[in-house]
Amino acid sequence: MKCPRCDVDLKSTDLGEYGFVIIDVCPDCRGAWFDKGELDRLDESIWTDVEKLDFETAANQRSALECPRCGGDTEPLSPHDAGELVVDRCTSCEGFWLDKGELDKMKEVAAEKDNETLKNMILLQRPPGWSWLRWSIYCLREYYRGNVQRPLP
Ligand SMILES: [Zn+2]
Ligand SMILES: [Zn+2]
Repeated sequence: MKCPRCDVDLKSTDLGEYGFVIIDVCPDCRGAWFDKGELDRLDESIWTDVEKLDFETAANQRSALECPRCGGDTEPLSPHDAGELVVDRCTSCEGFWLDKGELDKMKEVAAEKDNETLKNMILLQRPPGWSWLRWSIYCLREYYRGNVQRPLP
């Protein structure tokens, strides 16, 4: 696969701190391609249920790219409640292209949303829409940070 911006070969890269996902990253511009479903597997992500996310098209913000996977057109999309974040989704294969920095921005948005969620919780309860895996990892992390007394609820 080639980078839709630079036309150089994308390299398979482990996302590391973001979760156990192998994605295709451009060595030049550091943009990244996520096949359909791969964004859902991110550790901390507002995209956990990406199929059901409410998007609005963010046309005019940037021009359409050619999908590196299937050659289809991408459309710029902004999930509701995600601030200024705009990503490109292929209208055919439904993969996503994220430019450099967008993953970090996504993580920030996710952290903000998580804080909001947690503020609204009286007891430790698995927030709606969170998988058990995501919830367990979150609880363990909070336990090691000393924010909760038990590793798991
Ligand atoms: Zn590139
Ligand atoms: Zn495509």
